[in-house]
Amino acid sequence: MAASKVIVVGAGIAGLSLARSLVKQGFAVELFDQGPIPNPLSSSFDEHRITRHTYGSLDGYTRLMPDAFRAYDALWQDLGKRHYLPTGIAYVRRQADDWYATTARDLDAFGIEHRLLTEGEVAARLPMVRPGGIHSVVEVGGAGLLFPQRILADLVAWLREAGVVLHEHSAVEAIDLEHGRVVVAGKTHAADVVLVAAGAWVTRLLPEVAPAVTPSRQTVLYLDPPDDLRSAWAEAPILIEEGAHLSYTLPPRGGTGLKIGDHHFSRRGHPDEDRTPSSEDIAPVEAAAAAAFAGFERYRILEAKTCFYTVSDDESFFVQPLGRTGWVVSACSGHGFKLAPLIAQGVAEAISGKRDPAKIAEWAAGKDPR
Ligand SMILES: Cc1cc2nc3c(=O)[nH]c(=O)nc-3n(C[C@H](O)[C@H](O)[C@H](O)COP(=O)(O)OP(=O)(O)OC[C@H]3O[C@@H](n4cnc5c(N)ncnc54)[C@H](O)[C@@H]3O)c2cc1C
Repeated sequence: MAASKVIVVGAGIAGLSLARSLVKQGFAVELFDQGPIPNPLSSSFDEHRITRHTYGSLDGYTRLMPDAFRAYDALWQDLGKRHYLPTGIAYVRRQADDWYATTARDLDAFGIEHRLLTEGEVAARLPMVRPGGIHSVVEVGGAGLLFPQRILADLVAWLREAGVVLHEHSAVEAIDLEHGRVVVAGKTHAADVVLVAAGAWVTRLLPEVAPAVTPSRQTVLYLDPPDDLRSAWAEAPILIEEGAHLSYTLPPRGGTGLKIGDHHFSRRGHPDEDRTPSSEDIAPVEAAAAAAFAGFERYRILEAKTCFYTVSDDESFFVQPLGRTGWVVSACSGHGFKLAPLIAQGVAEAISGKRDPAKIAEWAAGKDPR
């Protein structure tokens, strides 16, 4: 018999996207979050997130990304708004390698524009980039900023309208994925299918996924640039620094702030711990900013923000059926926002019998996109 009722645990981008895809497949959906919906402490709650076609060595994701963009297009249709700003992305490479040749082949296959910037173009358009030791700067299209807080708010409104029951401040205390039950405030709720999309809290509910999925404490800095660079930043693409320090910088566009994070997974901490950033949290991001920006000492740090996401060894999105009725869905390693609506669609199709559930884990991990 086909399942008719689904419980989703967690109202980040993964849980909300799952709820939407399941409603579209005709399921009755109840969603529980331990905090408000959306929850400011979730990984998903921030001003901006990067989406892009280029995935370097993770070429399975390069093949998934056109579908991921299409999944967001379908979301904009439902929401009646497009919370996406195409900005392009510039890769600043400080070592000689064959990255551009490999990436260019992938991008050509998908018709995405790309080109090497000349020294003059870098100086004129990207004066914020530290000039020393640059091997190449490659600008790539098909990339831009997603605006999560706006997406989450509109998705929540859409779900309410579609009849999804949203339980705020309702922490799931215990879970039985064999029999489709969750316990909230001592009361048992039952469903045909239970989906766990609990973000960095997932290992507390399901310790058995701990070897594959690790919570990681990450820090980002919001910055105020010097006055003479303000207009360049207002037009800047996303910047990815690929030198001794790996960092990503989101420009202050579409009403957001200037933000930098380093692409280094701390693999420590728990999302319930104190989030006040320590000097140990901030120092590596400052070092990454000093390596990426010309004259970083002239920037003012407006806010250091500590957040958590899950990390997997190969940076893949983790999706796994568990027990007779359960699924765990964890958007891993800083790639989760851009992929969540697509993965949700695949999982909902598997639950409704339209796709083979046995193949979903590999597909979501970017290993078999067919
Ligand atoms: C600093 C940073 C930068 C990032 N940059 C990018 C980027 O540029 N591009 C990109 O695609 N991705 C990026 N990501 C990753 C992306 O934001 C995450 O992968 C994604 O938001 C995770 O979504 P989620 O729904 O799985 O988890 P979350 O958003 O954390 O949602 C989980 C929810 O589950 C709830 N919950 C947990 N336990 C329980 C329980 N027992 N009962 C009820 N509710 C519970 C929590 O309250 C929470 O609301 C970044 C993440 C961070 C932190």
